[in-house]
Parts: sequence; C-alpha cells; structure tokens
Amino acid sequence: MSDCLFCKIISGEIPSDKVYEDDTVLAFRDIEPQAPVHVLVIPKVHIPAANAVTAENSAVVAHIFEVIAKIAADLGVQDGFRVITNCGASAGQTVHHLHFHLLAGKDMQALLA
Ligand code: AMP
Ligand code: ZN
Repeated sequence: MSDCLFCKIISGEIPSDKVYEDDTVLAFRDIEPQAPVHVLVIPKVHIPAANAVTAENSAVVAHIFEVIAKIAADLGVQDGFRVITNCGASAGQTVHHLHFHLLAGKDMQALLA
C-alpha cells in the first residue's frame, strides 16, 4: 500500500527505531511512547486491522506473538507486559496497518484505557 505509513517504514522510506526484523515481521519503538517500553510489532504484509485476519494470513499473527515473547525477553520485561491492538477508528486505530502495541515498564493498571 503506497500511502500506508507502516508500509513506508517497512520499505525504509520513513525511518524507524527498529528493535527486531525478520522476513515477515518488523518491530520498532513507538514515536510517542505511552510507557518506558512501547514497541509496535507489525506484519510486513499489509493487513488493515485485526478484523481482516483470515485463515489465509493468520500464520503471520501467530509468528508476531512468538516475536513479542522474544522482544519482551530481550528488553527484560517478560514477566509483565501488555499487548494491545486497536481495530477501527472508533477503537482508537489511527494507522490502518495491523500492529500490536507491546507496553511495559510502568503500572499497567493505570494504562488501561
Ligand atoms: P494506533 O493508534 O493503535 O493506530 O497506533 C498507532 C501508533 O503509531 C501510535 O501509538 C503512534 O504514536 C505510532 N506512530 C505513528 N507514527 C509513527 C512513526 N513514524 N514511528 C513510530 N510510531 C509511530
Ligand atoms: Zn501498510
């Protein structure tokens, strides 16, 4: 998707603070962190949101959760973190490329919104 911000980050057209990358997944620090650890984990394939996950593309979502566990361990927050995906503008989704927020490092109860 040529007009998608996260596709531009994947292509390198827009820079990002990468924490993990493989053939199908990219993870980078959120530009407006809501917690000391705030990483976005995204599929390299353009999936608009969680409501567009299907039998055909869900393998990358399973892989994303493996990657999330690895990143959490690498960043030392494996014992306490939150994973959020917003689906649809009414749920707070502002970038319409599926992404999972990995949040940690402060009182997660206070972050529940
Ligand atoms: P959401 O509101 O769930 O769609 O999340 C989109 C997230 O992308 C927000 O937390 C933004 O701070 C973040 N974001 C927007 N632009 C960038 C960027 N260029 N690099 C990193 N994170 C970004
Ligand atoms: Zn995209």
